[in-house]
Amino acid sequence: MNRKPTIGVHYDACYEHHDTGPGHPESATRYRVLRAALETLPPEIVRLPGRTATVAEVLLAHEAYYHDVVYRDVAACADVLRTGDTALSCDSYEVALEASGAVLAAVDAVMRGEVTRAFCAVRPPGHHATANRGMGFCIFNHVAIAANYLRKKHGLERIAIVDWDVHHGNGTEDIFAGDPGVFYVSLHERGSYPFSGAEEDRGSGEGIGTTLNLPLPRGSGGALALAVWDERAGPALEAFRPEFILISAGFDARKDDPLGGLKWEDATFAEFTRRLVALAEKHAAGRVVSSLEGGYNPPGLASAALAHVAAFSSGPGG
Ligand SMILES: [Zn+2]
Repeated sequence: MNRKPTIGVHYDACYEHHDTGPGHPESATRYRVLRAALETLPPEIVRLPGRTATVAEVLLAHEAYYHDVVYRDVAACADVLRTGDTALSCDSYEVALEASGAVLAAVDAVMRGEVTRAFCAVRPPGHHATANRGMGFCIFNHVAIAANYLRKKHGLERIAIVDWDVHHGNGTEDIFAGDPGVFYVSLHERGSYPFSGAEEDRGSGEGIGTTLNLPLPRGSGGALALAVWDERAGPALEAFRPEFILISAGFDARKDDPLGGLKWEDATFAEFTRRLVALAEKHAAGRVVSSLEGGYNPPGLASAALAHVAAFSSGPGG
């Protein structure tokens, strides 16, 4: 087999309409810098269109009650979502639906074979949103919606969600804690927001063993993270044999991030990407879709994201 992978990327100025107010780290400015960097990608990287998620798709991972809370808070132009520390503007509901929809569109493009792997540069981020609570700058949990969409619409049975954002993805863990069909792996800074993600938390009920939390000490760099991955996460995911890999791709574990205390290099994100590409080529027909989470030093976010997309091309023929 010598198949050349086709890589997709999605970005759109519509995400800049979610206005979090002056001085907020999860800002439209941060996104503009990333978008300008992605516009420099070579033409063989396919630019994927987005779409609006339906309410039924949002309900794949969220309770109807919570969807209605978001709708009503945004319709009232509230400054902050009532369930948590997520800033809102009058367009935030529509933008959140675009963000979830773009990840689903990328999943469809991969499942149709139009691209092998794709990075979705969307905002607001998603991994802190539980089924019934938005928090931590997140409204809807895009990767959680995508994991259930892959199973419901495309008939897959085993999905891996790899979360390398510097913060623990409490929302994603919570949604799938009891679900043996979704393997959630999180690498995050120990003792940081949202203060969950202890190594002892391995899921619940039938889902015991398909949650893997790997907290890393503050100040540590990429070499330790990769070593922990190779010892713990790599073998676990090999045994799980995922049919699709979703990445909660935050870039706030990078050095010089104002909200993160780890010291990863751009090359660290490239190395993680190559490991996941190899795993996907072995078990998942190469299929990987990543969705932007954090990353609050705009130039660092842009350079780390470019390294991630470039490493997507590794693999057979790449
Ligand atoms: Zn984060």
